[in-house]
Order: sequence, then structure tokens, then C-alpha cells
Amino acid sequence: MSDCLFCKIAAGEIPSKKVFADDRVYAFHDIAPKAPTHVLVIPRRHIGRLAEAGPGDELLIGELVARAAAIARELKLEHYRLVANNGEGAGQTVFHLHFHLLGGRPLSWPPG
Ligand code: AMP
Ligand code: ZN
Repeated sequence: MSDCLFCKIAAGEIPSKKVFADDRVYAFHDIAPKAPTHVLVIPRRHIGRLAEAGPGDELLIGELVARAAAIARELKLEHYRLVANNGEGAGQTVFHLHFHLLGGRPLSWPPG
């Protein structure tokens, strides 16, 4: 999508602090971290939110989750949270699917 912030970040058109990149997945540090470690893991292909993932996207979604776990391992995070805000009412502000990987401090539950 031409006017999507995260499409532009994945394409390198807007700078970001890269954590991981391959053909399908891009990961980078959140610009306004909510924890000492706050990495965003996104598909390069535009999917607006988790609810818009369709049949055939299962492998990609699995890759995003597995990649987040691999990044957590590399960053030596033992305790962390992986979350996707789906829709405005859940706190989504950027409408390109992303998983937040949060760690490095105690994380309370339930979330707000
Ligand atoms: P959400 O509110 O779940 O849609 O998450 C969007 C996240 O994107 C927020 O945590 C923002 O801090 C982050 N964000 C927004 N713009 C940028 C940017 N240019 N680079 C990195 N992270 C960003
Ligand atoms: Zn996009």
C-alpha cells in the first residue's frame, strides 16, 4: 500500500532501527518504546490487521510469531509479551499488521 507507514519502513523508504529482515518479515525497534525492549515484527506484505489475514496467510503469521520468539532469544529475554492490537478499540494506531515484542521489565496482567 503506497500510503502506509510500515510498508514504507519495510521498503527502506522511511528509516528504522532494523532488528531482522528477510523476504517476508521485517523487525525493528519501536520509535516510542513502552518497555526496555520493544520490537515490532511485521510482514513486508500489507495486511491491515490480524482480522484481515486470510486463508493462505497462516504460514506468514506463524513466521512472524516464530521470528519474534527467535529475536527474544537473541536479545536474551526470558520473560516477554507478544501482542497484536487489532482495531482502534484495542489500541491499534498503525494499520499494518504488527506484533509488539515487549520485555525487560515486569509486565502486569491484565493489560489496560
Ligand atoms: P499500535 O498502536 O499497536 O498500532 O502500534 C503502533 C506502534 O508503532 C506504536 O508502538 C508506535 O510507537 C510505533 N511507531 C509509530 N511510528 C513509528 C516509526 N516511524 N518507527 C517505529 N515505530 C513507530
Ligand atoms: Zn502497509
